[in-house]
Amino acid sequence: MKAGCGFGIFLFLTTSANAETVATHRYFVELNQSLTEMYVNACFEGTPNFTLVAESLDASLAYTRGKVASSGDEVNPSGEISLKKLRRDDCFSYQVDISRPIMAHDPRPMTIKRVGRDVITAEGIWLWRPKTASPTHKVEVIFTLPIGVGISVPWSRINSKNPFHFLLKETPYDWPAFTAFGFFKETEVMVGKSTLRVSILESQRRLEFKKSILQGIKDAARAVRSVTGNFPVDDLQVLVEPGAYGPNAISVGYVSRGGRPAVHLHINERKHDVFATDSTILHEFAHLLLPKINNVDSWLTEGLATYYEYLLAARVGHKSVRDTLNIFRKNFERARLSLPKQSLLEVSQINSMSVGRDKIYWGGAAIFFMADVKLRLLTEDQYSLDHLISDFRDCCLQKKISWSGEEIFLEFDNIAGHKVFEDLYRRFVAVSNFPDVLEAFNAIGFEVSGFGQGRGEKRESKLRLGIFN
Ligand SMILES: [Zn+2]
Repeated sequence: MKAGCGFGIFLFLTTSANAETVATHRYFVELNQSLTEMYVNACFEGTPNFTLVAESLDASLAYTRGKVASSGDEVNPSGEISLKKLRRDDCFSYQVDISRPIMAHDPRPMTIKRVGRDVITAEGIWLWRPKTASPTHKVEVIFTLPIGVGISVPWSRINSKNPFHFLLKETPYDWPAFTAFGFFKETEVMVGKSTLRVSILESQRRLEFKKSILQGIKDAARAVRSVTGNFPVDDLQVLVEPGAYGPNAISVGYVSRGGRPAVHLHINERKHDVFATDSTILHEFAHLLLPKINNVDSWLTEGLATYYEYLLAARVGHKSVRDTLNIFRKNFERARLSLPKQSLLEVSQINSMSVGRDKIYWGGAAIFFMADVKLRLLTEDQYSLDHLISDFRDCCLQKKISWSGEEIFLEFDNIAGHKVFEDLYRRFVAVSNFPDVLEAFNAIGFEVSGFGQGRGEKRESKLRLGIFN
């Protein structure tokens, strides 16, 4: 009876939500031929009772002019844009200058960046959007682009007849997202059930490099898929920006989560033949295994990605087990000596990445290395960090849109049925003691004292836990 009653309530609520109609606001966006100006006509269904905001601090500087359609009244943003002057079913049109980087209050180089003839922009430099998401409205964005110009955005297409018609997924407006326009074609890379929509922007170098990049992306995605059996994002925007210098195939990689998750790679296409073995791509894809973690807990975000970056590079054979363990050993030691009086939590909260990077990345990786080994020891190698991540994604990913480190560690312990993470958090995250990695090295049969003397290699055959399998 109770189940039937609950069902009735559900039906009532559903009907009620539908009765309160969902307003569809449509943004019609045009770009000029040289991709230097954007013209946005934002049309609101009903009477908009919200303000508009843009994620970039430079959005007001890129905004050149705007007016209300019904009255012709000028609109000038001051932090936010009020829609009080709009009538019912009215529009507000505005123009944005994306011809050059601004970088006045927003130092990110990708806020407006030209790559060959193409342009990358932060969504937040041009998109003035409702401040908060609401179940009573949705926002569609429809582009009209010059002939031959393609697009890359982290939103879903909703019209099979028009590839430039998208539904804006309303994550918090201050989560960065990036859009690219230019003379590229999005390539779909399928990995299991997931689609990676890869856009490679224009290179000034006369090289055939795209095949290697697409293959490298596919191989890395497969490696990350092996952690849980599924690639962590169903539909991923991948932006590849050529033109980097230096010895690495990938000079910078990062993840953004506005709209939907996306991965950005700045590559040196001259090194395309070693792109697949550059572990940066494993690192970025490994970030996707977890949901958004609060910025103050970067030790956790970077720790997990760094641990899997090297673990997966060894599992797929890009590095030997011995080399990988020596990389762990060397970097754990460097992290232990870095800022020794501050806890991992303090370093993540107080220091910039340039000061605390070693400690944040490798201190965090040490926590996950220890957690993985402990879970395996408790279960005779039957339950690992891989299993835990998979179980977390099944049960708990949707519970919150962003997590603190402590919250997610408590959830991990609930799932695993052991107090492994709570214990690590209390002993090595909240206080300045460095994780006791020797214990974990011993447990897998790697003799740390052998580092640099060849003895690590001898012990390799005695690895007791299958972390590299
Ligand atoms: Zn990272």
